[in-house]
Amino acid sequence: MRTACAIVGGGLSGIYAAALLHHRGVDCRLLEARERLGGRIASVSGASPGTRFDLGPAWFWPDMQPRLRQLVSELGLAAFEQQTAGAVLVERFKLEAPQRYERGFNTEPRSMRLRGGMQALVDALASRLPPERIRCNTQVTAIRETQDGVLELTGPAGRILALAEHVILALPPRLVSQMAFAPPLPEPFVQWCRNTPTWMAGQAKCLAVYATPFWIANGLSGTASSFVGPMMEIHDASVPQGQPALFGFMGLSAAARQALGEAALKEAALAQLARLFGPEALSPESLHLLDWAQQPETSTQADWEPPMGHPAYGIPSSFGPLCSGRLILAGTETAAGQGGYLEGALEAAEAAVLRF
Ligand SMILES: Cc1cc2nc3c(=O)[nH]c(=O)nc-3n(C[C@H](O)[C@H](O)[C@H](O)COP(=O)(O)OP(=O)(O)OC[C@H]3O[C@@H](n4cnc5c(N)ncnc54)[C@H](O)[C@@H]3O)c2cc1C
Repeated sequence: MRTACAIVGGGLSGIYAAALLHHRGVDCRLLEARERLGGRIASVSGASPGTRFDLGPAWFWPDMQPRLRQLVSELGLAAFEQQTAGAVLVERFKLEAPQRYERGFNTEPRSMRLRGGMQALVDALASRLPPERIRCNTQVTAIRETQDGVLELTGPAGRILALAEHVILALPPRLVSQMAFAPPLPEPFVQWCRNTPTWMAGQAKCLAVYATPFWIANGLSGTASSFVGPMMEIHDASVPQGQPALFGFMGLSAAARQALGEAALKEAALAQLARLFGPEALSPESLHLLDWAQQPETSTQADWEPPMGHPAYGIPSSFGPLCSGRLILAGTETAAGQGGYLEGALEAAEAAVLRF
């Protein structure tokens, strides 16, 4: 139960920190609240073998994300370019046919996806750790510094989960602010945690998997934007040599989504796909909706109103070390460079393990 380093949170940042520490021979334990690893990374399987679709992050940009580019290559994962070839649709008014732009839309820099979904990254990193180092279904609710300077991590009902010389909190800062610390953390630091939005935590993604890519046959790319909704931005989510699919980001607020309910939201999303891409869209092989605002391991009520634009992330240097340097923050929101993104999660993990 005693360890040199307990890592709280098994998202990309926490798993990467654990893999780095293990590689260096540092005894560590990864404690994850959910029943699965990955955190905001969540891929669902399609019917055809090896096909996985992302309900969390799907894209990375190797030209500007050196850590991710290097890690994907080191882990031997296969990447492919986001499908954008074909016309783009814009839906402006409910009673008007969508406008079609034949020239399409190319993203620069190019957006890449991973074969096997982003989950492939999580699985490959987790396979580098001995299974006994990873504990899922383990929510940490409090951290107390004992008289001999060890940190005691406890869960609901005060169950002692681990004793650690160091703790890395690989969590969104807002979730850190919900944990109990003894002695308490400095109030300005707790305020910063509360005021730091968790990137994409108020969003929801809807994904429809199809038997055929009927939109491609009609010269469409699968990319659409809409002022009608319920999805505001739609993209092709097909897996090459796998199954065709479309996904969209919901444009409705978290509160409106909750009021409508999952069944009505899915129905409205399918109706929208049919308006845009044709009646074949009404018959998906499977339909998935993941509302991140409803996931307490990611989102708080404060995240229901997404920030305007991308916040400036990173821990203000004025705070100094926490708990004499034994409590270390990771998680993408603590990365000054590419905070919010997957690259930021790796950046934060690298910074956290520097101290070992
Ligand atoms: C819909 C969506 C789309 C996105 N798209 C992209 C994209 O295309 N490209 C990109 O770069 N980024 C994207 N992002 C952002 C990306 O997902 C994050 O940057 C990254 O996954 C954050 O990783 P993390 O490890 O820092 O945090 P998290 O993934 O949030 O990990 C934190 C972990 O801590 C666990 N946890 C929480 N509380 C406790 C507790 N008390 N005790 C123990 N464990 C706890 C959680 O279950 C979770 O596993 C997207 C995010 C979402 C939601």
